[in-house]
Amino acid sequence: MIFKDKAIIVTGSSRGIGKEIAIAYAKEGAMVTISSRNDESLKSVADEIKSIGGEVLSVAADVSKPEDSKTLIEQTIAKFGKVDILVNNAGITRDNLLLRLSEEDWDNVIDINLKGAFNCLKAVTKQMMKQRQGCIINMSSVVGVMGNAGQVNYAASKAGIIGITKSAAKELASRGIRVNAIAPGFIETDMTDNLPEKAKEELVSAIPLGKLGTVQDVADLVLFLTSEKAKYITGQVINVDGGMVI
Ligand code: NAP
Repeated sequence: MIFKDKAIIVTGSSRGIGKEIAIAYAKEGAMVTISSRNDESLKSVADEIKSIGGEVLSVAADVSKPEDSKTLIEQTIAKFGKVDILVNNAGITRDNLLLRLSEEDWDNVIDINLKGAFNCLKAVTKQMMKQRQGCIINMSSVVGVMGNAGQVNYAASKAGIIGITKSAAKELASRGIRVNAIAPGFIETDMTDNLPEKAKEELVSAIPLGKLGTVQDVADLVLFLTSEKAKYITGQVINVDGGMVI
């Protein structure tokens, strides 16, 4: 119960990595705000958290909209009285080769993955400064570190997340707020399910540990980085990728 009575927001927590993170916090005694664009898809996650005795708030919010991000933070404060941890996890892919990549797909990915993280970070900062403590995790990707053909928009958004993380860590450290980024490799979720079998096999052959990661692998790292055990770690990008980037 290492997060007992901590108030935590996880964006993009209706499925995949975000859902696992939200449930992992709830199992450790936290009060968790779950969020995604769609109210309906949050219901089953909320039920799962309640079934393990957790306290949960569901907020439908599109992180690309500043007013939604503000509401997400405000509703959490209204319900739990504070925000100890924000996990900026919401993200999408709209892959295409550069020459075929539409302006719309560029804008969508940047708006949700990069501006979305900025919107939530900005909205939570005042509260965390007032508290003189807080912890923020931004979800990057190995693709933001090493690039990937067909993912110019996604790579730009995830590299931008690293810039936000390092700058915010420097800006907020004196207020007791830590900011770190996580760069997962290929994790089994809906996002990677869409890949053709052959592409998956090729990917696995490029992973030294020889398999895709699980949502639990990512959640374990998020919980560690936001725990007291990581109290001297800020401004870092930690890979959880089976050795893809060495
Ligand atoms: P996923 O299964 O597709 O889930 C994405 C989540 O984000 C969903 O809950 C989705 O819910 C939400 N979301 C999408 N757009 C949103 C918006 N505008 N506002 C609020 N919520 C939004 O993806 P995942 O694989 O779990 O990935 C989670 C994060 O990890 C992403 O940032 C992704 O880039 C990163 N990541 C994933 C992998 C991987 O291999 N899976 C690797 C590296 C990094 P709604 O659609 O209902 O809004």
